[in-house]
Amino acid sequence: MSVVSNLEIVRNNIEKACKRSNRNLEDITIIAVTKYVTIERTQEAIEAGINHLGENRTDEFVKKQTQINNDDVNWHFIGTLQSRKVREVVDKVTAIHSLDRKSLAKEINKRTSKPVECFIQVNVSGEDTKHGLHPEEVLNFIREIDQYENIQVIGLMTMAPHVEDEQVLREVFRKLADLRDQVKEKHLAHAPCKYLSMGMSNDYEIAIEEGATHIRIGSELVGPYDK
Ligand SMILES: *Cc1c(COP(=O)(O)O)cnc(C)c1O
Repeated sequence: MSVVSNLEIVRNNIEKACKRSNRNLEDITIIAVTKYVTIERTQEAIEAGINHLGENRTDEFVKKQTQINNDDVNWHFIGTLQSRKVREVVDKVTAIHSLDRKSLAKEINKRTSKPVECFIQVNVSGEDTKHGLHPEEVLNFIREIDQYENIQVIGLMTMAPHVEDEQVLREVFRKLADLRDQVKEKHLAHAPCKYLSMGMSNDYEIAIEEGATHIRIGSELVGPYDK
């Protein structure tokens, strides 16, 4: 299917989820995850009206950004970020969604001269295969990175487990939202923590109902691709 048709379906679902949860459509940012698709398909997404793109590997991120060369596009880095790759992307990102360790914060801080907007990745479900801080580590981590003036913690990010059980998904998203509230209430200058990056193709409607502000959608929007 064309991205235009996919987008229509996704937008319709988002609208319904917003209605169910009394939220405003304008508070949801759709990030199209283009990690497995070609430049042509990525271009098609931009032409369909999408201006937030997400990539999870630095090489592909730089390649797509260079080839697409469009100042209207906001680029999100959503994958595990190796410290030695930071300088290749740090001044090109709208936001990094995967801040998960102090050494990475230190490297980001060192490689740029202006604040970088970051989401802290949280492993809410506790699965071994998932990256991210454990929820109980987050507040301490935020205190520790206070020293890095170029790190701006704008929100929290998580990946829900790959399950069908709606209740399980809801619980994961709720925990992240609670944690976000706890951080936000502290009114820290380096961690306004207003946003929630959560929800993918399988679970974005539930994520929106639980407060997601940034949803990262790949297969439903630019796919299908095998995950
Ligand atoms: C691939 C990926 C997505 C999108 O996954 P879909 O299930 O295809 O929507 C979202 N977030 C991250 C971090 C990803 O790696």
